[in-house]
Amino acid sequence: MSHKLPLQPNPPVMPSDASIYVAGHRGMVGSAIVRTLRDEGYTNLLTCSSAELDLRNQAAVLRFFADNRPEYIFLAAARVGGIIANSTRKGEFIYDNLMIQTNIIHSACTHCASRLLFLGSTCIYPKNAPQPIREEYLLTGSLEPTNDAYAIAKIAGIAQCRSYNEQYGTRFLSAMPNNLYGPHDNFDLTSSHVLPALIRKFHEAKEAGADTVTVWGSGTPLREFMHVDDLAAASLFLMNLPDDSYSSLLAYAPAPALINVGSGQEISIFDLAGLIKDIVGFDGDIVFDASKPDGTPRKLADSSRLHSLGWRHLVDLEEGVRNAYIWFKENCRGIH
Ligand code: GDP
Repeated sequence: MSHKLPLQPNPPVMPSDASIYVAGHRGMVGSAIVRTLRDEGYTNLLTCSSAELDLRNQAAVLRFFADNRPEYIFLAAARVGGIIANSTRKGEFIYDNLMIQTNIIHSACTHCASRLLFLGSTCIYPKNAPQPIREEYLLTGSLEPTNDAYAIAKIAGIAQCRSYNEQYGTRFLSAMPNNLYGPHDNFDLTSSHVLPALIRKFHEAKEAGADTVTVWGSGTPLREFMHVDDLAAASLFLMNLPDDSYSSLLAYAPAPALINVGSGQEISIFDLAGLIKDIVGFDGDIVFDASKPDGTPRKLADSSRLHSLGWRHLVDLEEGVRNAYIWFKENCRGIH
């Protein structure tokens, strides 16, 4: 769902031939950033698959940076997953994320990158944070236990960017999006997030003529969803901010170098299931499985700082889910 960038700063800071490294370009977020950069005329994009470069290997990452010296870095490489993957594979989530981000942030500093955007998630905030969640609520309370390993890794990355900015004068920014979905999402039911899981479940139930679809938990948790093309647009917008606005984000006293990227499109899991059921055209019933965890009750990001810079999301949730369902049908034939 390629669309023109909303309110792209003019002129952009990154020249069209700037050397830009997108870490994690095969994932949903990284691939959306690459698509958007290409659409905007960027020609010097650097990507490397995990088979070619294991980002958990410090020496290999340092060598990659020494050889390529990227000026701008979008750090979208991460171990990610839904509520069950996050709560049952905490060792992988904490180790892989800490290693990947530590190596890239450190190498970017060592090789004098101009800017780096570190992407995380709103699950870094305390489980019972006041809503909507402002950036300065970071580290003011306990985390949601189902994804605390992932969250602690991401918090360490934010702290690393801040510490390097303070000590070494780097210009590294962390952006925290809400629940994302879109092309190249993970539709594996054991590791995916709720939105792609429900697209697949309703589609397969419709194809099989099943009577019911099972949705995990109570249906009451609220989640804020954003199409990944909007996150990619916001990422370019932030990377291209004029120096004075960018510097004021880095220096923002209550929460330096940290910005939320939300859409404000909040919906309960119950209503999301109803929306996807209708879009897929499934006629049966929805059953809730209370043995599965609900996770955090609500995590609505306060994105007013991003909005005050002039950026807004474009993709409406219903349109985005329709688009994601089309992508699933066209690209996931092997799994349905
Ligand atoms: P979270 O936002 O980190 O909690 O991650 P998820 O996207 O995995 O889950 C969001 C909410 O959707 C939780 O309350 C889940 O229990 C609920 N949910 C309902 N059905 C499903 C499903 O089939 N898969 C997943 N991943 N979550 C589901």
